[in-house]
Amino acid sequence: MLFIIFGTKVRHQVIGEGQFFCPKCQSQRQYKHKKASRYFSLYFVPLIPMGKLGEFVECQTCGVAFEPTVLQIRGPVRTRHQATSTENLAQIINSIPARLNRGVPVEYLARDLTAAGVDRDVVMSMIEPHLGGRGKTCAACGLTYAASVSACSECGELL
Ligand SMILES: [Zn+2]
Ligand SMILES: [Zn+2]
Repeated sequence: MLFIIFGTKVRHQVIGEGQFFCPKCQSQRQYKHKKASRYFSLYFVPLIPMGKLGEFVECQTCGVAFEPTVLQIRGPVRTRHQATSTENLAQIINSIPARLNRGVPVEYLARDLTAAGVDRDVVMSMIEPHLGGRGKTCAACGLTYAASVSACSECGELL
């Protein structure tokens, strides 16, 4: 007696691959863009495509499948923020001598550097070399200035 084994079976066809930002891994990963089709099979040999089941993008690291629109995500906004703050930080550090000479108190520079993510211990070692000796302290308000500054920019007191 002859009997025929047939059925349908899903096949995944790779239609593209490359690098994408995986929302699960939160980083750049290798992906495979796959298309699923149902095939009519005879003796387990795929014969006729029975229609598209859909496309998906699969992360090769975590294995999670995403809508193909995931490929339009350019990457985390976080990375852009980090880049910006690194630029800001470089600007803040570069402007330390000029700001000190312009009469900006050490305390304000220290506040800006700390806000930009510099460690408190490191902040003073960045400012001190530009003070010109030990710097000056305003007798009236207690703010610290570079030796080149002649008057407190906060209260006008002569240093
Ligand atoms: Zn992933
Ligand atoms: Zn003062």
